[in-house]
Amino acid sequence: MTDLDQRLAELERSGLYRRLRLVDGPQGAHVLLDGERVLLLCSNNYLGLAEDRRVREAAAAAALRWGAGAGASRLVSGTMTVHRRLEERLAAFERTEACVLFGSGYLANQGVLGALAGPGDIIYSDRLNHASIVDGARLSAARTFVYDHGDCEHLSWALRRGHTESTGAVIVTDSIFSMDGDAAPLAELADLAERHHARLVVDEAHATGTRGPGGRGAVAGAGLEGVVDVVIGTLGKALGSYGAYVCARRSTVRYLINRARPLIFSTAPPPPAAAAALTALEILESEPALPRRLLRNAAVLRSALSREGWPKLPSDTHILPLIVGDCADAVRLCESALSEGIFAQAIRPPTVPQGTSRLRLTVMATHETSELQAAARTISGLARDLGVLAASANGGSARAERRAPHASDRAAVTA
Ligand SMILES: *Cc1c(COP(=O)(O)O)cnc(C)c1O
Repeated sequence: MTDLDQRLAELERSGLYRRLRLVDGPQGAHVLLDGERVLLLCSNNYLGLAEDRRVREAAAAAALRWGAGAGASRLVSGTMTVHRRLEERLAAFERTEACVLFGSGYLANQGVLGALAGPGDIIYSDRLNHASIVDGARLSAARTFVYDHGDCEHLSWALRRGHTESTGAVIVTDSIFSMDGDAAPLAELADLAERHHARLVVDEAHATGTRGPGGRGAVAGAGLEGVVDVVIGTLGKALGSYGAYVCARRSTVRYLINRARPLIFSTAPPPPAAAAALTALEILESEPALPRRLLRNAAVLRSALSREGWPKLPSDTHILPLIVGDCADAVRLCESALSEGIFAQAIRPPTVPQGTSRLRLTVMATHETSELQAAARTISGLARDLGVLAASANGGSARAERRAPHASDRAAVTA
């Protein structure tokens, strides 16, 4: 055995081994998974736009008009009219002065944090922020202070003692947390950022297209457009395509174009992906019923789960984590749900903290309410058979664990 085989065997022993599952056909409410038709309950294609006919046709037309790839990075010859049109449209959508596209949300977080903070600066990061924020903070080489999840008291204490006028400070948060579906206290964060002269960066990956007026995001929902310094969104989730955007003041965007390494040293997004996102955005703006249908479906699934005895969820969003605790139990529940034709991927450390493995259910606007209700019954029955629903229903332990120090997936913590 090589050392890698040994490490793989260790992952298998500890219930953390991962493998790829194969989906055939578009990301609809139902997919063919490893050859079987299943109800899809773990896609971020929240509005069904990835398989929308108009979006697919826009991508196809763009491939014919502009080609399959951009051929170069943005600063060389890769900036094409379709990129510029999408950026203008996104800036208007987010009510900001300017916008710049990135290759993905992951890259956008590397680019923004790496450009806005450096050695001598401090990044204040929520304990449950997405891994791309954690990695972006590492790339920046700034000090990172990890505040307790959603805890503005803790953040405020750290801000008071953490930085002086001469250090740059960045507060960064998911707006809707990717694995728990709960919301960041954006108004308080904006207030703290202003009082302490820190920049506020908000990652709207799960809020774009799903939250706020017309699906304009949680920042718009909180009335903070123009207050938050940098808004990051992905094109890969509700907008059904691939890529990401950063909306900010014109000077901030010009700075990112000069300093964000993932933008400078990586090929521009492919024209079909940009065109698909542009059409998805037009559909979102002209069909406000779409995000409403998503919210309705989320409410249907949430109340069906609560009738089955799951503890009250921390979220009022379309992300509904069923916290099981042990990673092997989460995998068993996932596999038994699959054998009943329901696909909800088990999420384990390091994606979530130790002891909080879960099925992360996500609803889509394209689900039927009856199939969501049936899925809640099926999953809950299986969870009871496995003995994880009762264990989870008495609450305490999983929630206590969630406040424990972050696992391996975390940059150095300095107070
Ligand atoms: C998914 C996600 C990202 C990464 O976006 P991609 O476009 O998929 O790379 C960034 N931040 C958060 C909070 C996410 O959930």
